[in-house]
Amino acid sequence: MTKKLPEDLVREEVLAMAAYHVADAAGMVKLDAMENPYPLPQALRREIAELVAGAAVNRYPNPQAPELKARLREVMAIPAAFDILVGNGSDEIIQILIQTLARPGAVVLAPDPTFVMYRIYALVNRMRYVEVPLAADFTLDCARMLDAIEEHRPALTFIAYPNNPTGNLYPEADVLRILQAAPGVVVLDEAYHAFAKKSFMRRLAEFPNLVVMRTLSKVGMAGLRMGYAAGSPAWISEFDKVRPPYNVNVLTQLVAEKLLLHADVLEQQAAEICAGRERLKAALERLPGVTVFASDANFLLVRVPDSGKIFAGMKERGVLVKNLHGSHPLLAQCLRITAGAAEENAQCLDTLRQSL
Ligand SMILES: *Cc1c(COP(=O)(O)O)cnc(C)c1O
Repeated sequence: MTKKLPEDLVREEVLAMAAYHVADAAGMVKLDAMENPYPLPQALRREIAELVAGAAVNRYPNPQAPELKARLREVMAIPAAFDILVGNGSDEIIQILIQTLARPGAVVLAPDPTFVMYRIYALVNRMRYVEVPLAADFTLDCARMLDAIEEHRPALTFIAYPNNPTGNLYPEADVLRILQAAPGVVVLDEAYHAFAKKSFMRRLAEFPNLVVMRTLSKVGMAGLRMGYAAGSPAWISEFDKVRPPYNVNVLTQLVAEKLLLHADVLEQQAAEICAGRERLKAALERLPGVTVFASDANFLLVRVPDSGKIFAGMKERGVLVKNLHGSHPLLAQCLRITAGAAEENAQCLDTLRQSL
């Protein structure tokens, strides 16, 4: 029997994809992935160690994660009339929403450039992915968004608020116009909510098809893999059918619940990260040929004279950032730099200067 090769059997959409690349960061100052640089206080670590020691890892997790949801509702001010969908990171929430709405020919709409997983999951699930280009300064072209909504009637629209990789928040009035015009589900991806402090969570009642999605990753729990979305019970109950029942594991449920009790610690860290970001921004702006874009997230988008050379020079000197050159025409010669702890930001600045 002759055996088939992967290219004979693997779906064309998958064959055409490149694997998601994560750079090796061993021993580096890691400023490429929007992680929180601060360790947890020692006392809190001990509490977590005890919790983990007592965890029933022989049992499946509670698929509804009731305690974790109750804590999220309280800490994140999720209104009582709305339900919560939990995910193994918000990446999985994106995947669940797309799988639920992937009728043949259905459209996913998003500004471009934006978070890459919207496109990947849309294409893997054979949805049509329609992109509306941002302006050269990364502001939203609201008129074009509204035209695209009119023309394509998207089942699902993603608005990253603030946007990744650009860091900016779109004007609230533009988002409201999109929410009014869109016939389908509109996801406000508030992954950077802790830094931007702006949210549509309180406006859920005004828009029946609004889903507000967040993650705990960027506030210090990237390793736990915990994301969530809030929306009307009618939508969330459909999405919940597609969710793998045990997607949020026992340890993640326990530890996330505990850390949410200490949201003040994480908030304080987020405030320090924002202050450091602004200091880094001011210093970078003084470098010749460097343009820094406004950010409401925990990273800066920076245009430099030669991003390939500077990326390599920084890496050689022990600092890892993200080179976005080649990922999108609007991102030519751009680096995305995560704001780290003060010492990391200083090293970032020094190595960038040395690599110019
Ligand atoms: C980081 C990020 C996510 C995904 O975060 P998870 O770690 O999967 O929870 C989602 N959306 C945006 C815009 C992001 O930047």
